Amino acid sequence: MRHQIVIIGGGSGGISVAARLKKQLKDADIAVIEPSDKHYYQPYWTLVGAGIVPKEASERSEASVMPKGVTWIRDRVQNIEADRNQVTLATGTTVDYDYLVVTPGLQIDWGKIEGLKEALGHDGVCSIYDYQQSERTWEMIRNFKGGHAIFTAPATPIKCGGAPQKIMFLAEETFVTEGVRERSQVSFYTGGGVIFGVKVYADALQKVADRKCLDYRYKHDLKAIRPERKEAVFSRTTDAGVEEITESYDLLHVVPPMSAPDFIKRSAVALQDGPLKGWMAVDHSTLQHPTFKNVFGLGDVIGTPNAKTGAAIRKQAPTVAENLAAVIQGRPLTQMYNGYGSCPLVTGRGQLILAEFNYKNEATPSFPFNQAKERYDMYLLKRHGLPFLYWNLMLKGLA
Ligand code: FAD
Repeated sequence: MRHQIVIIGGGSGGISVAARLKKQLKDADIAVIEPSDKHYYQPYWTLVGAGIVPKEASERSEASVMPKGVTWIRDRVQNIEADRNQVTLATGTTVDYDYLVVTPGLQIDWGKIEGLKEALGHDGVCSIYDYQQSERTWEMIRNFKGGHAIFTAPATPIKCGGAPQKIMFLAEETFVTEGVRERSQVSFYTGGGVIFGVKVYADALQKVADRKCLDYRYKHDLKAIRPERKEAVFSRTTDAGVEEITESYDLLHVVPPMSAPDFIKRSAVALQDGPLKGWMAVDHSTLQHPTFKNVFGLGDVIGTPNAKTGAAIRKQAPTVAENLAAVIQGRPLTQMYNGYGSCPLVTGRGQLILAEFNYKNEATPSFPFNQAKERYDMYLLKRHGLPFLYWNLMLKGLA
C-alpha cells in the first residue's frame, strides 16, 4: 500500500488534521490508520462519572467523523520505519508514505499499578479514564455510603491534568446532596507537587479545595491496590527520601500513569533521552520532527510541555496542516504553536473555572472577564458549547 499522506490515529488530532488537509490540498491522497470503529469525545467522561450525561453521548461511529475523500485503513500501526518512509500494520501489511502525521494519543498504563486491573470496576475502585468505567464511576459515587474517598493522580504527564480533581469536586458535591458528606473524608493523593501549574488558577482551585474541606497530599504516587483489604499503597517522596505508606479507602478513584504508545517509544521518531524520553520528538513551534522533515506530530503523543487536551489540538491541527502543506509545496514553515492548552475546571454542577494558558504557563484568557472565577456560563460552555464545537466545527476542520 502507498499513500501520499498517512495519518496514524483517527482520534481528535487525526480527524481534525485530515479534514483540514483535505480542504487545503484538494487532490492529496490521504489515509488515516485507525483500528477502532468508534470515536469518543473524552472530555464528556468527567460528566459521565458525575451522572450529568450518559456515556453514549460521548460516542459516535468512526465512519461518521471520517472526512469524505480520505481513505480509512482499519488497522493498528505496529512499527514506524521513518528512515524508509514506511509503517507496518498489525496485520503485517506495510504502508509507504511521502508524508506522515503521528497522532495515536497516549497509552494508559493500567498494569503499572499492582492489583488495579483486577480491582477496577468493583468494590469502590473506579476511573473516568475509560468509556465503560466512567459509567461505573457514577454508580460508585452515587452509592457511596460514607468513609474515606480517595482520588489519585500520577506523577507522569496525563491527558487533561485537571480531570482527576474535577471528578473529586463533582463527587464531593454528590456526597453533600446524598447526605453522606459529614461522615466522609475526601482526599486527593497526587504524585505531583502543586494543585495546578498556573498560579492564577492554582489560587482559585485552592479556594475551592478549602471551601470543600478537601485533604490534599502531594508527592504521593499510587503503586498498588489490595482490594481484599480495601487498601491503597502509595510511595511518598519527602526531602528525607521515598517511603511506602498504606491508606484505607471506601472509594478509590484511580488515574493511572500514562506514557507514549509502545510502538512510538521503540521508534526513531521518539525522543531518545531527557525527561520526556519516549514521547514523540517535534519542534515545539512548528510541530515538525527535528530529523525526519516529512513527519509531523500532534495531540497527546508529542513530547512538548503543554497540557495534553483536545483544546491544545484545536490550535495544533491548523499548525500541522499549514506547515505540512508548506513542506509539500516547498514554502517556508510559518505557523507556530504557542503551547496553548485549556482545562475547563468543573468545580460543581453549574460552576466552572475556564483555565487557558500557554507553554510559559501564562494565563491566556479568551473572554473579557476574570476566568479564574467560577461561572455558570462557562459551565454551560463545557456542557453544551464545547461538544458542539468539537463535533460540528473542529472535526470538520472549521475551528
Ligand atoms: P485520541 O483522541 O485519544 O485518539 C487517538 C486515536 O489513535 C484513537 O482513536 C486510537 O484508537 C488510535 N490509535 C491508538 N494506537 C494506534 C495505533 N497503534 N495505530 C493506529 N491508531 C492508533 N480535553 C480537553 O480539551 N478538555 C477537557 O475537558 C478534557 N477532559 C478530559 C477528560 C478525560 C476523562 C479524558 C480521558 C480526556 C480529557 N481531555 C480533555 C483530553 C482529550 O480527550 C485528549 O487530549 C484528546 O482526545 C487527544 O487527542 P489525540 O488525537 O491525541 O488522541
